[in-house]
Amino acid sequence: MSVIGIDFGNESCYVAVAKAGGIETITNDYSLRGTPSCVAFSPKNRILGVAAKNQMVTNMKNTVFGFKRLLGRKFLDPHVQKELKHFPFKVEQRPDGGIGIRVNYLGEDNVFTPEQITAMLLTKLKDSATIALQTQVNDCVISVPSYFTNAERNALLDAAAIAGLNVLRLMNETTATALAYGIYKQDLPAPEEKPRNVVFVDFGHSSLQVAACAFNKGKLKVLATSSDPFCGGRDIDMALAEYFCQDFMTRLKLDARKNQRAFLRLLQEVEKLKKQMSANSTRLPLNIECFMEERDVSGEMQRTQMEQLSAETFIKIERALKGILHNAKLRPEEISSVEIVGGSTRIPAVKGLIENVFGKQASTTLNQDEAVSRGCALQCAMLSPAVRVREFNVTDVQPYAVRLAWDAARGEDGDMEVFSPFHAAPFSKMLTFYRKEPFSVRAYYTDQVPYTDNFIGQWHIREVQPTAEGESQKVKLKVRVNIHGIITVASASLVEKKQQDPSQNESVEMENSNEAQGNQEAPMETNGGQEQQQQNGPENQEDDDKKDKSKDKSKKVLVKTIELPIEAQTHGLPQHDLNSYLEQEGKMQAQDRQEKERADARNALEEYVYELRGKLSEGEVLHDFVAEDQRHRLVSQLDSLEQWLYDEGEDQNRQVYSEKLSELRTEGEPIKQRRLEFELRPGALDDFALAI
Ligand code: ATP
Ligand code: MG
Repeated sequence: MSVIGIDFGNESCYVAVAKAGGIETITNDYSLRGTPSCVAFSPKNRILGVAAKNQMVTNMKNTVFGFKRLLGRKFLDPHVQKELKHFPFKVEQRPDGGIGIRVNYLGEDNVFTPEQITAMLLTKLKDSATIALQTQVNDCVISVPSYFTNAERNALLDAAAIAGLNVLRLMNETTATALAYGIYKQDLPAPEEKPRNVVFVDFGHSSLQVAACAFNKGKLKVLATSSDPFCGGRDIDMALAEYFCQDFMTRLKLDARKNQRAFLRLLQEVEKLKKQMSANSTRLPLNIECFMEERDVSGEMQRTQMEQLSAETFIKIERALKGILHNAKLRPEEISSVEIVGGSTRIPAVKGLIENVFGKQASTTLNQDEAVSRGCALQCAMLSPAVRVREFNVTDVQPYAVRLAWDAARGEDGDMEVFSPFHAAPFSKMLTFYRKEPFSVRAYYTDQVPYTDNFIGQWHIREVQPTAEGESQKVKLKVRVNIHGIITVASASLVEKKQQDPSQNESVEMENSNEAQGNQEAPMETNGGQEQQQQNGPENQEDDDKKDKSKDKSKKVLVKTIELPIEAQTHGLPQHDLNSYLEQEGKMQAQDRQEKERADARNALEEYVYELRGKLSEGEVLHDFVAEDQRHRLVSQLDSLEQWLYDEGEDQNRQVYSEKLSELRTEGEPIKQRRLEFELRPGALDDFALAI
């Protein structure tokens, strides 16, 4: 069993594996370390990763990209509507309001959800890892942008489940980067010393994330994050593409905006140009052959011009960079270094902005493309018993303020903040309610979140009844931001105090044992139940708990906790959808396998035809081991087979190829055998012995 870390990027993905010897990045079927976040469909199969990107221009309508931004969202979400403009493929509203991506697959219209498409990409990454490592891969840690809300996080977990991956943690991208940085740092301050503050800037394809972290030996604590989910390298590509569109329009009267294929090619070319401009400040050419209307186009640009065109993006970057100083309450001189990762931090102007804001040069200690996946692999190794790595304690944050509202019990409703912005995560809080009947709580983000609404979830606590005396019962809710950064009501329990009764010992638990258990995972707080104050006067809940504890010790009042059933209404796919997607994915994988076997069978036949014909020709090894007339017949049979392979034999099922191959082998193999026997004759053997 291997444990892997996956960086699921907007443009490309990286997979790293943690081994006893260290962390390695896995290469894919094209021997590349990065796999494009691209999924395509054909009449015969799915095409995933590099191969999908390679055929994008010729199969535009069925090549899906940019889906990380669609995860967990509804079709009418304004962000989604904005994204649609970038897509040459069809996106529509599903009956449940979700997003449907309509493609032609196996010659039929198919509609897939972003979770399904993401799952397809994840299966590719899983396959690459399985092939590279020659072992089963299930456990993984997958990266997510730190700004992802519950909806998006749940959607990614669903995608991973469809892909058959067991996610030990969804890890914030900048936190993964920080872990990859910290674990190899030998000179971190001792635990009791003042921590070293490091800022990480990840500027990728479609988003910008910044985190400030405090490091001591063996641990890191994220202080705060800052981000712009709608600012990335692709915005620069768009600005350049818009410029050239205008340029071609005025100079050549060609309107590339009206031609999706031309615009897509233009985007690919300006991205290349943008990368060249990072290393080169002189004027650089842009040439595209047969761009549209059978005309070639060319243009040019230099770095300063690119910077002017991207001014808006640079303003956004500066805002997010300054944001981290504010959020982490750090002055630039308190930051010891600013580490950059993500492809777009290669842009000199971005490095310039960093220097301006933090008063120091951006440093490139980390591998810019692979740091996130490596951090995830490290985290995965720490969470899994399969591999041992150096321990490193990671305390993350969840960036948004979260409030809990409870509905009216006898007309009294209430509301309180459970997590402040940048509260440590994972973390649990116990809230105490006094209730006589089932009740509901609802969690919501109070900060502005990069999502259409601030709903987190609603939980209905069932089976709450009054005591025998008709009094309210004490109900404890565990509100948790879990290891994935998902906010949830993890449990509800009814707390009954009882005098000690030896016969009941087994079923009786000391109060707070539940909390103590939780304490091993994360710090825990017992919050004052505001509602109790509303109902029962200003009695302080924490005092109440202390009283309980002292009673526990001295008078041996024991407390029985009963788990209460909870009905949750949160984000994420309903189980029956998940099951049907799992089944569908299984079928598609079988189809891909079948298609691969078909292609392999065709290749095997083709190879045999060429090999045999080559060896039968004048002067070659098999030429003299077959009677002339048989050879002529065989060669002409091989010629017509070659013809057939490119003609009606192009697209047959596997059986047809393998039958033809075995037919051919019944003729070819005896000839090869005669040659072999000849070689193995005593005389020949002597020659052979001499030769070695
Ligand atoms: P995200 O982090 O937004 O989910 P990602 O992780 O896929 O996306 P990266 O691989 O970090 O993104 O970065 C890809 C972006 O970096 C692309 O926009 C690419 O054009 C840009 N990029 C890569 N190399 C360079 C370079 N030398 N100069 C400028 N931009 C570059
Ligand atoms: Mg990235």
